[in-house]
Amino acid sequence: MDIDVNVIEKMVRQAIADVSKDNGCPTVTYHGPAGNYGVFDTMDGAIEASVIAQKELLHSTMAERQKYVDTIRATVLNRANLEMISMLAVEETEIGKYEHKLIKNRLAAEKTPGTEDLVTEAKTGDNGLTLIEYCPFGVIGAITPTTNPTETVICNSISMIAGGNSVVFSPHPRATKVTHLLVQMLNKALEEAGAPKNLITTVKEPSIENTNAMCEHPKVRMLVATGGPSIVRKVMSTGKKAIGAGAGNPPVVVDETANIEKAAKDIVDGCSFDNNVPCIAEKEVFAVDQICDYLIHCMKQNGAYEMKDPAMVEKLDALVTNDKGGPKVEFVGKSAKYILDKLGIQVSDDIRVIIMETNKHHHLVTEEMMMPILPVVRCHDVDEAIDNAYEAEHGNRHTAMMHSRNVEKLTKMAKLLETTIFVKNAPSYAGIGVGGEGHTTFTIAGPTGEGLTSARSFCRKRKCVMSDALHIR
Ligand code: NAD
Repeated sequence: MDIDVNVIEKMVRQAIADVSKDNGCPTVTYHGPAGNYGVFDTMDGAIEASVIAQKELLHSTMAERQKYVDTIRATVLNRANLEMISMLAVEETEIGKYEHKLIKNRLAAEKTPGTEDLVTEAKTGDNGLTLIEYCPFGVIGAITPTTNPTETVICNSISMIAGGNSVVFSPHPRATKVTHLLVQMLNKALEEAGAPKNLITTVKEPSIENTNAMCEHPKVRMLVATGGPSIVRKVMSTGKKAIGAGAGNPPVVVDETANIEKAAKDIVDGCSFDNNVPCIAEKEVFAVDQICDYLIHCMKQNGAYEMKDPAMVEKLDALVTNDKGGPKVEFVGKSAKYILDKLGIQVSDDIRVIIMETNKHHHLVTEEMMMPILPVVRCHDVDEAIDNAYEAEHGNRHTAMMHSRNVEKLTKMAKLLETTIFVKNAPSYAGIGVGGEGHTTFTIAGPTGEGLTSARSFCRKRKCVMSDALHIR
């Protein structure tokens, strides 16, 4: 991308300093009830304000709702705002890359569907006319991850408000400032556009206790969790309507019919995007023996550093793994260069991914690490590669990639893995609309089955029956 990061960084730091109090949020004067453009002292306050906002929204016209969606898009796409939230997200969470956050935030603003997603079904016959319409749930409680803290707020806000809902966000504590900044920015713009106050709310001090309070609150009608297995399990056990967008461990299969040069570049591009934190990003490769050496060679030409010494691979694994076998927080979303430096290996800025050959049982294959470390497993043939990919995906049914020109094998893999997103011959991000057709979403709900969420996912289907009239055939 044609961006001078130093210039932007300077501008954004100045902008943040200009509008900041001590917490990095804009100083805004709020003349309404308790709360500061949607940021409330207590979860109860955030929910009660959200109830009022949603009742008002219910009486808005569809044109007004679409105007609110357009307001969110325009606010995020304002250059200073986009740069500020992207910069602050990286600064506060210490996860990912600024240039890629810009792309992801822009994508969420531009390609999340609005009210056009709510297509009414009509049935007519001798008994009249029946309409089936997508209607709001009410107040939605949404839990957001550290890995996409702003993208999820943008995407969920557009979808949920388009569907006639208000939303209370419970962010990860490590993304508090940037969530506050974004929520305030959006509410201010929405109010100026004539929308109800507090369509988007959150709490001053996010915590597990506040998330629990939100899950248990009787006025929260739907829960949406975008995060790891623990929070998905939690919302699904509340007895409320819950949408769970959980973890993935996306495998890539490369067979002998693929365009290997392109596959290598696509894999490195996808794996290194935002330093591998997207839940859809390439996490392990299964390559057919016949092309495996050439694939590795081409990956190295595209910014991969190959770690050949098995002892060093084990050292790397120990460095980035916590006591429970998961990724150490301080390495999630860090660059390949940063990780290698901790092992005393200095590389140039061109190095984007660390690769190594392992067997299919290796911890780096089986665990979702969320950093640009990409094990490559050599397989006898494409069928073995597909079987191994199926195992590594752990039945998450989240995302998988395949590089092949063999339609039968592409179909076999898609059918076996049953992932929400299956990308053929492209980087993983084609699956969320970067270089691939279709809308985007940052809440990919595999566990509960909504899949690629959009406005209709956050709605109830209701029926309106006119008996014996209004059919005109
Ligand atoms: P995380 O699970 O640690 O946290 C996600 C959110 O849940 C945070 O707000 C956190 O505070 C909260 N949370 C977690 N456990 C909780 C508990 N027991 N009680 C109350 N709140 C709890 O995940 P993260 O590190 O922030 O994000 C990365 C994970 O999210 C990865 O597993 C990734 O695959 C997944 N993810 C999935 C999608 C998707 O669309 N399917 C999108 C982004 C991230």
